[in-house]
Amino acid sequence: MSDLSETPSETAETAVLPAGPPTTPAIEVTNLSRWFTGVHAVNDISFTVERGQVIGFVGANGAGKTTTMRILATLDYPSGGTAKIAGYDVIKYPGEVRKRIGWMPDHYGTYNNMTVLEYLDFFARALGYKGQERIERIADVMDFTDLGSLSDRLIDKLSKGMGQRLCLGRALIHDPEVLILDEPAAGLDPKARVELKHLIRILAEEGKTVFISSHILSELDEMCDSLLFINQGKIIHHGTSESLRKGSAETSLIEVQLASSPERLQEWAALAPNVTFKDATKNGGRIEVDSVDDEVIATVLRRMIKDDLPVTDFHLRERRLEDAFIEILGEIEASGTPIVS
Ligand code: ATP
Repeated sequence: MSDLSETPSETAETAVLPAGPPTTPAIEVTNLSRWFTGVHAVNDISFTVERGQVIGFVGANGAGKTTTMRILATLDYPSGGTAKIAGYDVIKYPGEVRKRIGWMPDHYGTYNNMTVLEYLDFFARALGYKGQERIERIADVMDFTDLGSLSDRLIDKLSKGMGQRLCLGRALIHDPEVLILDEPAAGLDPKARVELKHLIRILAEEGKTVFISSHILSELDEMCDSLLFINQGKIIHHGTSESLRKGSAETSLIEVQLASSPERLQEWAALAPNVTFKDATKNGGRIEVDSVDDEVIATVLRRMIKDDLPVTDFHLRERRLEDAFIEILGEIEASGTPIVS
């Protein structure tokens, strides 16, 4: 962890601020680097996140996620390059950046002898809210995170899921436009994960930009518009889940189930154009179509029906995101070149 004395201060801010027009990207990172003694934690990375997007920041332990996020949250200085939030440079205008971001660290500092209400009230006061406005901000946040019934509960008596909701609530007090969430779902049970995903989706629908890290891909898949992969301090891929699943494949693997013996599928595939039988399953089998074109795949299904095959299920078997990630890592090791689309 960095020494607090290194934290970017407001003193760098000048009286004249650059305009932060709503058309500027929510997050703009250019050639950003951060070295620690003996470790190149973030190594010359560049990426842009448009406003209103939910971006998953994915990488293994030690890949550089927290370091990048701490710089974006104005908690650490880069060794090189720039990072901007809504057009404001994190080093030159940390105050403007802090007004616009909600930061949820991977380990939040708890004040165990405080209640939920006291905790939120403390942060609302620190942010300068007074009187009725402070009461309303806290009530809004408690309502959104469903903490109302827990307002008098001591923080050390909260479950992990409740604690994460409280931490999210704290990040939302000043209604920031960009949320930076470092592994918010780590350690949550399945129900708490679903609740958290639901809250993040609502925030995205309200137009907030959400930059969220995890090393569990399936966790991010359903809520993110696109995924940014980082490995050993380098961005190795930026794209949608769909593009990742499709990858560079030139064929499609399709699982078929029949209301008859699997042999019928094999016999049919032997005569059908564009199709190769791969292997049998309990009620059918997997076939490979020599195209990724949806129209060609639809034609294969039409032909099956026309040839009177009793098809009960026909679906494209997509690559799992984990497989895509591993494949990209393999391609990089083979070529030494990051693939950034
Ligand atoms: P995790 O998923 O485990 O949280 P991460 O992707 O967030 O990992 P970082 O915490 O950014 O990774 O760490 C990137 C690298 O930088 C690691 O090798 C880490 O040990 C190193 N590192 C991070 N902070 C410091 C520091 N203050 N001093 C020295 N090395 C550091």
